[in-house]
Amino acid sequence: MRAMVLERIGEPLRLMERADPLPADGEVRIAVHACGVCRTDLHVVDGELPNPKLPIIPGHEIAGRIDAIGTGVTGLAPGMRAGVPWLGRTCGHCDFCKSGRENLCDQPLFTGYTRDGGYATHVIADARYTFKLPDSGDDVATAPLLCAGLIGWRSLRIAGDGKKIGLYGFGAAAHIIAQVARWQGRDVFAFTRAGDAAAQAFARDMGACWTGGSDKRPPEQLDCAIIYAPVGALVPAALAAVRKGGRVVCAGIHMSDIPSFPYRLLWEERELISVANLTRHDGEEFFAIVPQAGVTTQTVPYPLLRANEALADLRSGRLRGAAVLVPDR
Ligand SMILES: [Zn+2]
Ligand SMILES: [Zn+2]
Repeated sequence: MRAMVLERIGEPLRLMERADPLPADGEVRIAVHACGVCRTDLHVVDGELPNPKLPIIPGHEIAGRIDAIGTGVTGLAPGMRAGVPWLGRTCGHCDFCKSGRENLCDQPLFTGYTRDGGYATHVIADARYTFKLPDSGDDVATAPLLCAGLIGWRSLRIAGDGKKIGLYGFGAAAHIIAQVARWQGRDVFAFTRAGDAAAQAFARDMGACWTGGSDKRPPEQLDCAIIYAPVGALVPAALAAVRKGGRVVCAGIHMSDIPSFPYRLLWEERELISVANLTRHDGEEFFAIVPQAGVTTQTVPYPLLRANEALADLRSGRLRGAAVLVPDR
């Protein structure tokens, strides 16, 4: 197999050849057809998340086909189309796992962070955390659904059912969730970097009824807001934009420090909450909704070998939609 590997924090990924890995008990091997590039991968590469496995193959938005299975795997077989998300494994017996909150498991493994991920021609995954995908489908278009879509969906559900919803940061997750929110009959208010006319046009194409810089107040008070950009200053901005009793959801795994803000922004039962990881149940729900809502993804494909360039483009904010790595076969 070939993989783009992070050996040390802050260094570029390096192409490495390795022996094809063999799936152990309960595992599958997947021939990667496409792997999305998520902002979390940048946080891993930059050392903003504690204790990554090093060296690590990043990537947790994996779509491909199973090409080998270990013993004891049920429900999956070679040749099946499958997807691998961020949640790579949970312990199954901590208080969180036992109470339906496996996203908060005390001893989890995360794909592309604490176990090898999909910036590669092949990946090994725990079969129980692998999603079966419809047999036909475009793997490049599907890849961003595995995290941007899934975490986006969890954050949308946790935002509640308010009609007027603000999305701060209009990248891979927001462009998917805007479509779902529209399908649910909500009005989407999209906030981008100040003056980013291209991102605002993109947001309108995805169904936003209003767009503006994140330094702007929306024309009416919002019921809820989700922050996808890793910018702490957006927290007080979003709290100021929601009505009494409104909720602000921080959907990223890492954010710059939140500046201090006056209590009156939180007063009147406004709520601030973060969303961490996903459960398999989120995935089942979301993949059922995708065809009903007619979700499409806007992707920018890169050859696997150009992973560093894809990461740089994501970092710069140049991308419209989601970067996806494609190994040549
Ligand atoms: Zn992600
Ligand atoms: Zn657990």
